[in-house]
Amino acid sequence: MAAERLVVIGGDAAGMSAASQARRLRSPDELEITAFERGHFTSYSACGIPYWVGGEVDGPDALIARSPEAHRERSIDLRMRTEVTEIDVAGRRVRVRDVDSGAAAGGDERWHGYDKLVIATGARPLRPPLPGIDAPGVHGVQTLDDGQALLDTLGELERTEGRRAVVVGAGYIGVEMAEALIRRGYAVTVLNRDEQPMPTLDPDMGALVHEAMCGLGIETVNGTTVTKILTGEDGRVRAVATEDEEYPADVVVLGLGVRPETELARAAGLPLGPSGGLLTDLSMRVRGYEDIWAGGDCVEVLDLVSGRTRHIALGTHANKHGQVIGANVGGGYATFPGVVGTAVSKVCDLEIARTGLLEAQATAVGLRYVSVTVESTSRAGYYPGTRPMHVKMLAERRTGRLLGVQIVGREGAGKRVDIAAVALTAGMTVEEMTALDLGYAPPFSPVWDPVLVAARKATSAVAADVRAR
Ligand SMILES: Cc1cc2nc3c(=O)[nH]c(=O)nc-3n(C[C@H](O)[C@H](O)[C@H](O)COP(=O)(O)OP(=O)(O)OC[C@H]3O[C@@H](n4cnc5c(N)ncnc54)[C@H](O)[C@@H]3O)c2cc1C
Repeated sequence: MAAERLVVIGGDAAGMSAASQARRLRSPDELEITAFERGHFTSYSACGIPYWVGGEVDGPDALIARSPEAHRERSIDLRMRTEVTEIDVAGRRVRVRDVDSGAAAGGDERWHGYDKLVIATGARPLRPPLPGIDAPGVHGVQTLDDGQALLDTLGELERTEGRRAVVVGAGYIGVEMAEALIRRGYAVTVLNRDEQPMPTLDPDMGALVHEAMCGLGIETVNGTTVTKILTGEDGRVRAVATEDEEYPADVVVLGLGVRPETELARAAGLPLGPSGGLLTDLSMRVRGYEDIWAGGDCVEVLDLVSGRTRHIALGTHANKHGQVIGANVGGGYATFPGVVGTAVSKVCDLEIARTGLLEAQATAVGLRYVSVTVESTSRAGYYPGTRPMHVKMLAERRTGRLLGVQIVGREGAGKRVDIAAVALTAGMTVEEMTALDLGYAPPFSPVWDPVLVAARKATSAVAADVRAR
């Protein structure tokens, strides 16, 4: 019997995890796997780019988990610099073109048949059509090529006195890049359209990040919209203009968020959700399509707390999706139940984390909540090096069910959010959380861990709210 043909579109986290897992389960005689990747790299960590640019880790090779050759050695026919330009669902085939050879003329296009298809096309960074946005010195940081191009620009500026960088956007990529540029000796300004940095936090917690960023020497301007990029006589970037100010810049980094890369899927008539991500069932099979799976940044995921689908572009999800898809296309069985919205990042020594719902998100889905914020410490108060840590907790009114946690603080703050992520997944109440048997010793936490302090305060707030009604 001829081998089944699996085609994977996209050669990074979701796509190659799917291909690798399928190969573990099925031999080349049973399953022929072809993966198409239009870029220069495969199975790489975009997450490492800010640390590579900042000089903390080596790159780009160190950021590549598996090279094309390593995939090919495992009988995955990986075609680099090959773009899929169309999915013909009825004909079970994809149209592909070589990116480097006569692509513009379309002369090199051909069809490739499949029995099973995996769509793992990732996300596209937002790049508004502002005057000057394509000027030399303006950089995105989505791919390793982007990272290298930025490093090349920084190399050219090495001898420039008083080097200035502007980062546009204050989401996690924006703040991580601000840190990288500070490390490289730049005076950094972050321009942010929102009220506070980190839109993944409530504004009151974002305000703590703002304060800390200013303390770290990062000029952070909130509530401002970039209108154009100004260039000098040499055509290179010289400043970023907002409605009312000009910010001089030798280099500009864009961190404006991403949208699912689903143009192929849209053109093929596959189902998309409100954020433009592909809709799948729990096995990551595209809804209504028996032989097509999708995962990673190009899909919407089920938010287990709100019950809605959302687009959350994170590598942690993409890798898990790939494992699930690979198991299913390889003849096994696996599901991806959904997410609780956990994310962690940092700017210099400030750690920023969240899980569950923000206040606005809870309100949007009709949940009523009480909210508390506590200031605790990272270690026992008497232990050297202890630092303040803010924990905000949302609990459902009446039931006391945990709805969300945000943490801003120094050492040890970020990964503490995992305690809350587990509690959310388990559907715990804040009262149940107060009894969690967490580890304690003075160098690691106060005797009441900051998360438990917040849970105690939230428990009291829920009880007070019940009494008041
Ligand atoms: C700077 C930065 C920092 C990050 N930090 C973190 C972090 O700390 N934690 C975290 O969880 N996540 C982080 N992420 C997000 C994480 O990198 C992504 O969620 C993850 O890479 C998504 O994997 P994916 O396979 O879905 O998509 P991608 O990695 O985007 O891969 C999709 C691939 O598909 C290819 N492709 C697209 N269309 C086609 C086509 N038509 N034909 C052929 N190939 C195609 C693309 O070239 C691309 O290589 C970060 C991202 C960036 C940019």
